[in-house]
Amino acid sequence: QMRSKISLIKEKSNTDLVNSEVQDPSTLSFKEQTPTDTEITSHQYSIRAGLVKQIASGIYSWLPLGLLVLKNIEGIIRDEMNKSGAIEVLMPCVQPANLWQESERYNNYGKEMLRIKDRYESNMLFGPTHEEVATDLIRGMVKSYKNLPLCLYQIQWKFRDEVRPRYGIMRGREFLMKDAYSFDTDYKNALNSYNSMYKTYIKIFKRMGFTPIVVRADTGLIGGNLSHEFHILASTGESTLYYDNKLPELLKNEDVESLKSIYAVADNIHHTKTCPIPQEQLSLSKGIEIGHIFYFGNKYSKPMNAKVTTQNGKNVNIHMGSYGIGVSRLVGAIIEAFHDDKGIIWPEAIAPFRIGLINLQIKTGKCVEIANKIYKTLKSDKVLYDDTEESIGVKFARMDLIGLPWQIIVGKKAVSENLVEIKNRVTGEVKEIQIEEAINRFT
Ligand code: ATP
Ligand code: MG
Ligand code: MG
Ligand code: MG
Repeated sequence: QMRSKISLIKEKSNTDLVNSEVQDPSTLSFKEQTPTDTEITSHQYSIRAGLVKQIASGIYSWLPLGLLVLKNIEGIIRDEMNKSGAIEVLMPCVQPANLWQESERYNNYGKEMLRIKDRYESNMLFGPTHEEVATDLIRGMVKSYKNLPLCLYQIQWKFRDEVRPRYGIMRGREFLMKDAYSFDTDYKNALNSYNSMYKTYIKIFKRMGFTPIVVRADTGLIGGNLSHEFHILASTGESTLYYDNKLPELLKNEDVESLKSIYAVADNIHHTKTCPIPQEQLSLSKGIEIGHIFYFGNKYSKPMNAKVTTQNGKNVNIHMGSYGIGVSRLVGAIIEAFHDDKGIIWPEAIAPFRIGLINLQIKTGKCVEIANKIYKTLKSDKVLYDDTEESIGVKFARMDLIGLPWQIIVGKKAVSENLVEIKNRVTGEVKEIQIEEAINRFT
């Protein structure tokens, strides 16, 4: 009996969420959906490959393939955050306005904040960020220096009513962020927490398959005076980065202090006149902001009265930092950095499946048998199986568009000579090998 791709995804997610034909990523992607706003490749590919579907400006539903990528990205972030000693929590999306009045950000935040009223006419908002909630969470709970250092993180949906939502999921209005908040007794300890996150971020992005460029940054609406942005290089990036050409080499070893000492900034704070390094030592690239870390001392703990007693019995405002990663933006940003004219080229660590299995001879019983056997032998969470009756051309194009790292192609020769083709999506290289060898290679 044949199995469709969607039944496979259903198995993987172990739910009944995927139960209609409409959600078959292949039908969604290739035939019916033509992107209307094709400003940028990642946007076009994320719609055509059936990763997401827009429901309103800047608001998306995540389809099976897109969700798998999102979960893989989350998984890497969660793992490295846990390793750093941070503790996962989940704070609410909807926040009471009074917390923001306390911190005096309610009026300043402006139109990016989605303000709502509940049935009692209380002012509420859909959280664009969570500094206030995090400060409120620990004040009263954490009383002594003995409870610090502490770093809490969450992976949660935010809403920012962006002036111009564009580039698809890269600048959504609703988007998924990993945000973390560190709490320390003094500047020195807070700096340790900051540096530890700096390091953790580099590890996170390297595991996703790329080395980020880290630049000193403006603190904007979050406040404070120490801040770094993490960027993925892509020619279509909104930021221009200026950095010492020694930076990429230094990023290999991750010594945070030397990384911080080198000249690296984004366009909004770079000035040719004040640039401390000679022109010929300066690299210039386009980047997409995928992470941002801040140290802001007592900016929130002071107005919100979050204090701890120190070892000497003094009562001091907690020193805080916050640390964001654009989880859903990364899906788009990684496509923007890894694609060709045929489609997406997922780095292995975040690919929705490792292998795409294509059966070209759907009407040949023997061929179906072989493809089914390969499918069953390789673990199902690794393989996306195209057993549709569509033309060979559609199947090839679709699999390239979806961009899994490997393809196993089962055709006539599988029956006559026991051979299948394996294709590497990065190099495009195709090799004919024995069926058993193909199976061994991917188990
Ligand atoms: P940008 O400069 O792109 O508007 P930001 O500086 O306003 O981003 P931060 O407040 O630093 O964003 O939030 C932390 C991270 O959240 C950002 O580094 C980015 O990766 C992600 N992010 C911010 N806004 C969006 C958005 N509208 N859609 C998707 N991800 C976003
Ligand atoms: Mg912004
Ligand atoms: Mg920014
Ligand atoms: Mg930022």
